[in-house]
Amino acid sequence: MKDNSRKQGAASPCAACKLLRRRCAQDCVFAPYFPADEPQKFASVHKVFGASNVNKMLQELPEHQRGDAVSSMVYEANARVRDPVYGCVGAISSLQQQIDILQAQLAVAQAEVVHMRMRQLSSPEHASPSSRDTNSHHAKSLFSMDMMEDHTANMEESFWR
Ligand SMILES: [Zn+2]
Repeated sequence: MKDNSRKQGAASPCAACKLLRRRCAQDCVFAPYFPADEPQKFASVHKVFGASNVNKMLQELPEHQRGDAVSSMVYEANARVRDPVYGCVGAISSLQQQIDILQAQLAVAQAEVVHMRMRQLSSPEHASPSSRDTNSHHAKSLFSMDMMEDHTANMEESFWR
């Protein structure tokens, strides 16, 4: 915790109690998560969720989960303030869109890899003696893939034509 310059002998209220103008009790549920030096955190959470709802949510959670819950609420509240219509759903759906686009690109790239591999396998130079030294190991595995090659060649046909 940062040093609180507003300390005046008695413990100064946390950001929540200060905003709500109430006495900050020793066991204040807000105090660990809303320090006085970050008033904006509670302000936005209070504006979006309401202090009593935040209080209720924190009370219902075991202590070790409250920190994460507060970070989440602060994030959601700030997103809602920035984007009153969509809130953090706006960010989620734009990220989801990016995932969809990237997955489609990945699928295309993987299909291209398969296509190129198939072309390489079916090219005659592979069986030529010049490539025997470096590819002897490879050629062996190629041989066992003959069945698969036939199978995928058909698939390739329907894929690319
Ligand atoms: Zn307090």
